Amino acid sequence: MEKVFLLLGTNLGDRAANLSSARNLIAFRTGQIMATSAIYETAPWGKIDQPGFLNQCIEILTMHAPEELLRILQKIEKEIGRETTEKWGPRLIDIDILFYGDRSITLEQLTIPHPYLHQRRFTLLPLAEIATNIKHPVLNKTVKQLLKACDDNSDVQRYN
Ligand code: AMP
Repeated sequence: MEKVFLLLGTNLGDRAANLSSARNLIAFRTGQIMATSAIYETAPWGKIDQPGFLNQCIEILTMHAPEELLRILQKIEKEIGRETTEKWGPRLIDIDILFYGDRSITLEQLTIPHPYLHQRRFTLLPLAEIATNIKHPVLNKTVKQLLKACDDNSDVQRYN
């Protein structure tokens, strides 16, 4: 069993419902959810009539190998997208693998830890809630240290 941290993101349709569907399918198909962060809203940049993103981090315990896990998550993204694709477009849910245990993986289809993890406040803030002392296996810093060092100052607020 491996401890895996995922980032969920959505900015179309019923965003809270999209997160909830994703959590349900992830729990059913990949493994038990051990922790969930609060949900955060990242304000839209530029066009203010656009909905912002909702983001949430979750920790799962999974038996699936990294590439297999990615395939399962991509199928879940497609399924959630498909329900309302015509009405809302394709980006209803995005699921990124942030950490997979302490492994560092570089494949054409998959980079772990996620390559932008340390640059994005909307990733680090929710991740720090459930993985504050987890060490990035490449940068060799904890999530708490990465958050402190991150110079992304985009507006990320807790969402009710
Ligand atoms: P996006 O359109 O931002 O959701 O990017 C999806 C693409 O990123 C897919 O083709 C994945 O193969 C690739 N990818 C690379 N590393 C990761 C990762 N750690 N988690 C999820 N997708 C990844």
